[in-house]
Amino acid sequence: MANLTDLPDSDSLAIAELQALFALQKEAFQRNSYPSAQRRRDDLRRLAQTVLDHRDAINEALALDFGAHPRVAGDLIEVAGVAEGMLAAASRVEKWMRPERRHTDLLQFGTGKAFVAHQPKGVIGNIVPWNFPFHLALSPLGDMLAAGNRVILKPSEYTPHSGALLARMLAKAFDQEQVAVVNGGVPLAQAFTRQRWDHLLYTGSTQVGRLVALAAAENLVPVTLELGGKSPVIFDRDSVTAGNVGHMLAIKLVKNGQMCIAPDYCLVPRADLEKFVAFARAHFEGELAGYSGGEDCTGIISQRHLQRNQRLLDEARRQGTQVIQLDAAGTLDPQTRRMPVSLVVDPPDDLAIMQEEIFGPMLVVKPYDDLDEALSTIKRGERPLALYLFSDQPAVIDRVQRETTSGGFCVNACAVQGMVHSLGFGGVGHSGTGRHHGFDGFREFSNPRGVFVRGRGGVFEVLAPPYGRKANRMAGLALSAARLKARGLWGTIFGP
Ligand code: NAD
Repeated sequence: MANLTDLPDSDSLAIAELQALFALQKEAFQRNSYPSAQRRRDDLRRLAQTVLDHRDAINEALALDFGAHPRVAGDLIEVAGVAEGMLAAASRVEKWMRPERRHTDLLQFGTGKAFVAHQPKGVIGNIVPWNFPFHLALSPLGDMLAAGNRVILKPSEYTPHSGALLARMLAKAFDQEQVAVVNGGVPLAQAFTRQRWDHLLYTGSTQVGRLVALAAAENLVPVTLELGGKSPVIFDRDSVTAGNVGHMLAIKLVKNGQMCIAPDYCLVPRADLEKFVAFARAHFEGELAGYSGGEDCTGIISQRHLQRNQRLLDEARRQGTQVIQLDAAGTLDPQTRRMPVSLVVDPPDDLAIMQEEIFGPMLVVKPYDDLDEALSTIKRGERPLALYLFSDQPAVIDRVQRETTSGGFCVNACAVQGMVHSLGFGGVGHSGTGRHHGFDGFREFSNPRGVFVRGRGGVFEVLAPPYGRKANRMAGLALSAARLKARGLWGTIFGP
């Protein structure tokens, strides 16, 4: 990384501010490292109230950052959805904080008690992407506060209005020694990853996630990586219906395809390919007429991202792949960066649209001949963040669930696995590591400390020198017991 003196003033100021805030929060954590359940409940409720109070400002910032953004989507996902998650956590946090009792062997440990006590990790960094600038900043913040931590957030440089609003609204609700926001570009992001956090959450692309993990490893900082990838949708035989295709397309259009768990490519029985295309066209002619020129369409975040989307489509056309603009009358609006939706039919595997996460209003459809082929296509790729299956066959559902691996799995619907507060959310392999949301988030941002409190009885003195007769007798008994257990005879002799 460049020396602070080589950076433009704004970058070096932002980095100096980050370092000062980090020192402030570290020091505050030393003074108070275990907020009470009441304090955490109050924090979560205040956060929910702050989000609700800023509803209009949040929607305005989203419209400015995206060029165009449906207000109702802002209300549902970035305001009500966030507040709802905080309030659910507030009502459960005391229960989550209770120590978890663990089994101990009476003979060995006497009446001593073993339990896991979740304690705050300390000061956590949260690097936020641009696609849900409030939801992905605040929802994990709620998990981190529920677990009793202090947090510094770094919004994306692509959403400057949302980043500035986050800084203002959180400064009104919290002392900076508990929650703070730093805004800036890539030099700040890089400096952020080099702090010696007690935990670091990064949400964004797999490519940058790798850099974040490398930087964190320098300080042995534990990381949660919420990454992306290509999330497939399998349509089983008899499942290519107007309802299923329409539902999948509707989910694809949340943020105009700029959602980490958006369907990326659909695997459709070869015999049903034409039917699939016809249902997709009909959905746009009926339900979604005028979509890309209307208020429900979100703008593409930047000119750079817009050009990339067009490059993917141009390459497919150049190579002779059929590209169908589903929103037939739609045009690209350069002002608001709203872009029509395209279906790319059976592209060859070496096209960029088959190699990269799409993250825009384009959808690939690939035919398959049997389920083995569909599953092997998925298994050849990296493990996805989400996998969707439309099927009414229990044996098929069971098989796909057992034979594939992904962060989340959703049957006969798309994206719902990400909305259920009681389900942890995260990826696997190249789509991420770790979980947040609800209790899983509380656990992710806590140190699960193993505690043993000695009671009466137990055999502790035999474990350390001087090893006398008692220790030798104990070792003999332990070896005999282990031999019986290994041969499966222990239960027969002593009962289960
Ligand atoms: P991105 O990787 O470009 O940027 C995310 C964040 O990383 C930004 O705050 C940015 O400032 C920071 N950053 C950029 N360069 C950096 C560097 N060299 N070192 C450290 N930080 C750096 O991601 P994006 O384009 O904002 O988001 C899109 C991607 O995020 C997609 O792949 C999508 O699937 C993924 N995503 C995943 C989830 C999830 O929960 N798994 C949610 C939303 C988005």
